[in-house]
Amino acid sequence: MSNYLIFLDLETTGLDPRRDQILEVAAIVVDTETWEESSPLHAVIKHDLSSLHMVDFVRDMHTRTGLLAELEHGRPWSDVQEELARLFDLYPRARLAGRNVGTFDRAFIEAKAGLITAPLSHQNFDVSTLLNARTWFADFADPLPAFEGTQHRALDDVRNDIEIVLFIANEMGTRL
Ligand SMILES: [Mg+2]
Repeated sequence: MSNYLIFLDLETTGLDPRRDQILEVAAIVVDTETWEESSPLHAVIKHDLSSLHMVDFVRDMHTRTGLLAELEHGRPWSDVQEELARLFDLYPRARLAGRNVGTFDRAFIEAKAGLITAPLSHQNFDVSTLLNARTWFADFADPLPAFEGTQHRALDDVRNDIEIVLFIANEMGTRL
């Protein structure tokens, strides 16, 4: 199994990969032997705001974070898709990592870009599952590191997930 985790986060217009659109992508590769990080891939995707459909909750969230205001200066999805494909090619059999990354982010990537994920492992590293399991051990890794940056911005979400996984891994290491 590859030592690499590719932490990935998408911001989207909703939950349905068939109908909703990707607005922002961030990815950082982490070597789990050294915990060294690659330089991040980060892109806001170009959209015509008037053509995007979002429920009020999602529109308010992406307005608050400033993401919607950045879309008109974003990059074409076709360019970002190629950059993602190049990244995945560089890390054969790496696992994608993130919250619900298999059912959400991976599903969106595959719906919009086809099987550019093919070089990767079919396994995913789900940070949500790790956090759920942690609650079985009441005082384990508590408190978690505070969130730094803006929640629901892809790069800050990715950095926060890496912090949490590193923190829990260190806690496990000191208790085993
Ligand atoms: Mg996010």
